[in-house]
Amino acid sequence: MLVFRRIKVFQNLRQIHLRIQLPLFYKVKTVILPEVELPKSAFIQVKSARFRADSIIRIQNRIEFDTIDYILGLTQRDISTTKKDKDGNTKTPKYKYEDWGIMGLAYCPGKSCIVSSFRLQHKNSAIYLDRLKKVTVHEFGHNLGLPHCPNKKCVMTDAVESIATIDHATLALCEVCQSKIN
Ligand SMILES: [Zn+2]
Ligand SMILES: [Zn+2]
Repeated sequence: MLVFRRIKVFQNLRQIHLRIQLPLFYKVKTVILPEVELPKSAFIQVKSARFRADSIIRIQNRIEFDTIDYILGLTQRDISTTKKDKDGNTKTPKYKYEDWGIMGLAYCPGKSCIVSSFRLQHKNSAIYLDRLKKVTVHEFGHNLGLPHCPNKKCVMTDAVESIATIDHATLALCEVCQSKIN
C-alpha cells in the first residue's frame, strides 16, 4: 500500500528544489508554509551566534499536526547541538562539543527536523544546492526511521563532522535503505 505523507516546509530559504526532492525519494506530498522567525529561546552565543537545533525541533514538534505528519525546518542561520558520546555524556573536549555547529538534526524516528545552509556554502552554487539536497534527504530519512548507513555512497552515510563526506556521497539511497522505507 502506498502511504502519502505530507510535510510542511518552513520556507526560510527560497529553495523550492528541496520541496521537489523529498517526493522523489519518499512517498510524500509537501506543503510550503510562510517564513517564520527562528525562536528567540533557541538562540545561544557560546562561540558564535547560533540557534540550538534541539530546541527548534522541540518547538516544531509542538505545532498542531492536522493533516500534516512531519515538519522540516530550513534556515540560513547557524545551528548547533551538544555532541554526546555513546554513554550520553558530552564528548570531550567539552569546550569543543558542548555547542557544536551542525548542518542538520533529526531524531530517528521523529516528527520534525531542521536543516541549515550555513555550513553548506560553496562558491559554486550547484555544489551548494547539491549539499543542501543531500542534507535534507538525509535528515528527513532519519525522521522516517532510517539510521546511518555504512555505505559511504549512500545519502544516509554519517557525515562524521565533515562536509567532504557529504560531497563524496551520492544524492541517492542505497538498496538497503531504500528497501527499509518501501
Ligand atoms: Zn544523520
Ligand atoms: Zn544506505
